[in-house]
Amino acid sequence: MKTLEQLDPETSQIIADENDRETERLQLIASENYTSPAVLEAQGSVFTNKYAEGYPGARYYQGCGPSDRIEQLALDRVKTLFGAEHANVQPHSGSSANMAAYLALLQPGDTILGMDLAAGGHLTHGARFNFSGKIFKSFFYKVQPENQRIDYNLLAEQARKIRPRLIIAGASAYPRTLDFAAFRAICDEVGAYLMVDMAHIAGLIAGGAHPSPIPYADVVTSTTHKTLRGPRSGFILCRKEYAKAIDAMIFPGLQGGPLMHIIAAKAVAFKEAMDPAFSTYARQIVANARTLAQILQDQGFKILTDGTDNHIVLIDIGSMGLTGAEAAERLEAAGIVANKNGIPNDPRGPRVTSGIRLGTAAVTTRGMKENEMGVIAKFIGRVLRGSCDPAELDNTRRAVAEFCKGFPVFQEL
Ligand code: PLP
Repeated sequence: MKTLEQLDPETSQIIADENDRETERLQLIASENYTSPAVLEAQGSVFTNKYAEGYPGARYYQGCGPSDRIEQLALDRVKTLFGAEHANVQPHSGSSANMAAYLALLQPGDTILGMDLAAGGHLTHGARFNFSGKIFKSFFYKVQPENQRIDYNLLAEQARKIRPRLIIAGASAYPRTLDFAAFRAICDEVGAYLMVDMAHIAGLIAGGAHPSPIPYADVVTSTTHKTLRGPRSGFILCRKEYAKAIDAMIFPGLQGGPLMHIIAAKAVAFKEAMDPAFSTYARQIVANARTLAQILQDQGFKILTDGTDNHIVLIDIGSMGLTGAEAAERLEAAGIVANKNGIPNDPRGPRVTSGIRLGTAAVTTRGMKENEMGVIAKFIGRVLRGSCDPAELDNTRRAVAEFCKGFPVFQEL
């Protein structure tokens, strides 16, 4: 970034600091990852200059030849990757993808049923203070207190009472496989649409490490930047019958000009995810999460659901006398970046919480495997079970930085 360095040293320095932060620390935030240099190049390309309102072959501006080609390439790739009938790659984010899906299928005031935020759902799944809870009448399903899993019989009972127009399957903090067939059966019984928000697990699905929602869902929404390892953005997949409504809701319904540079970066990410090596990567993410959960549990940590089927490990830290906020801060001081997270029936509010959420997508991108999960679990144990003396935490931070040096941020596929 020589030009930037010369022109704007201040910005350049902050970017360099972020690069150091990402490199020298253990990145365990479950919703983050490291994109490839190729994705970063496409994202930083001249497509950022182009306005291309509309869709390939039907734009409102001149000069959209290359824009048409890149968007079509991204569309073709994502449809092949997930086996979808129709795709829209213009949503700027997971939230805007969700908004478009709801507004395309529902009327304001319709009833939706999503996973409770406190049980692991996302803000956009009907939270009262989110657009989804303001526009729609939202109801929530929870997880069972004894094993923190969805009880599909209870969910069916709830759906029979509520008669929602749409049920959302998908979460931000649910470590177990989602049973899309069970969701479909419930939707069919009560006459609801099934929307799957696969934001967290899209990369696992692409790599065959989690069952696909495509045979079951009416609409699938996603982000591109979590396990899928693309740029920060979103996309929608749907059955042909909803194609027109979805496309019209994204543009002109909700958005103006698409971010063509991000769409270029999405095309690259989809190509990378089609490589057989990505499937190995996706399976390694899950193997790493399982190992991390097991070793932490062996150390005495209380792991929600007793393990994991995906990239997420949830620790009930409250049972050790710490809050989620204290634990996350202590971990960060020691070079381990994770986030506080509510646990089902959390007695503490969302700013404090009683849980920690860990994710293995980013460390797996660095080439870490089961052995390294043992090392990470030891670091975590040392920080959360040991002293909170700043000097000791700083010693661990240095040891973490040394350990990270052995794993360059992006391993070529
Ligand atoms: N859906 C789920 C399940 C998520 O976890 C997230 C983000 O964490 C989103 C949607 C929203 O994505 P974005 O932050 O891109 O709006």
